[in-house]
Formats: sequence, C-alpha cells, structure tokens
Amino acid sequence: MMKIVILRIGHRPQRDQRVTTHVGLTARALGASTMLLASNDKGVVQSINEVSRQWGGNFIARTVTSWKQEIHDWKDKGGKVVHLTMYGRNLPDVIDEISGIEPLMIVVGAEKVPPGIYQMADWNVAVGSQPHSEIAALAVFLDRLHTLGNNDPLALEFPGGNLKIIASERGKNMEEKY
Ligand code: SAM
Repeated sequence: MMKIVILRIGHRPQRDQRVTTHVGLTARALGASTMLLASNDKGVVQSINEVSRQWGGNFIARTVTSWKQEIHDWKDKGGKVVHLTMYGRNLPDVIDEISGIEPLMIVVGAEKVPPGIYQMADWNVAVGSQPHSEIAALAVFLDRLHTLGNNDPLALEFPGGNLKIIASERGKNMEEKY
C-alpha cells in the first residue's frame, strides 16, 4: 500500500473530538498509515491508538505542534500534499495526476482553514463542490485513490489485533484473542 499521512488542522478540543476521532478511524480503515493532529489533544490520539491496538494494523495517531512545519518537513523530504477543500479542483478531474504519487500527505480542516494552506498544497481537491464533511471527503478521496491504484481499500488486512469481525449475513460474529 502507498504511504499516506493525514494532517488534521483546526481541531477545537471542546467541539471537534468526535469528528477528529472519526477522521482518524476512517484514515486507518481506508489504508492511511498515520494521522498527525495539529492540536494538543492527547485524548483523541489515545482513543484512536487504542482502536489500532485492539483491531490490529500499524496505524499511529500523534499530536504535532505546527501544521506549517509538518508540511515544510514533508515537502523537504520529497512528499506531496493534497488539501481537501470544497473550493479546489474536483476530484474526478485531478485524481489521475495524484494516483501513484507517494508519499502523500492529505490535509483536512475543521471550521475555517488558514489561507496559507491553499498555497502550500500541491493540489487543492474538492470532493464535489458542495460543503459537507472532512470524514466524508477523506473517505471518498481514499477510496478513489486506492481503487485507481488497483487496491481495494475495503479488503485490507489488519494483522496483530485482538478483535476481528467475521462478516456474516445476519448478526454479529467476532473473533476475540484474549
Ligand atoms: N468552511 C470551511 C472552509 O473554509 O474550509 C470548511 C469547513 S468543513 C466542515 C471542514 C473540512 O471538511 C474542510 O476543511 C475540508 O477539509 C472538508 N470538506 C468539506 N467539504 C468538502 C468538499 N466538498 N470537498 C473536499 N473537502 C471538503
């Protein structure tokens, strides 16, 4: 799988904990390797990392102090940056340019993003030009990205966890290793 890092900016600890947690869980479930949270909210990263510990795989969430510095460092090392924003170029028009590029950082905002991010990103990408949600935007973007690269993001393996779902037609079937 490609190396994909999510950078979550604008997180407000009082308001965004649930959404940011879901950004992290969605990133993990759909094949990203890391979420960087540009906010000092240790509780959110702990709950995402606890899910990784229980359900397996190598996804890591951690806090960072400066989103700008993270982007600079990423680009210095040759990484490319996608900023998900409804104001950007629409995903179907730009996905061929991005597919196969790695490592890739994907930036998602919360309320209002700082204007500088539009300049720093290599691509400003809209998942449709309507306002919706960072969770939805990230999920659709990752699905299109992996699918073009011939990987099915819904068939990933998460080795090493204690919990695994055995898909079933009705009811809940879980394998628990304790
Ligand atoms: N009004 C805000 C702004 O000025 O960017 C957007 C707030 S929105 C609730 C939070 C985040 O969701 C955005 O920063 C963006 O990452 C993502 N998002 C929302 N709608 C999107 C869309 N249509 N395409 C891509 N990303 C979107």
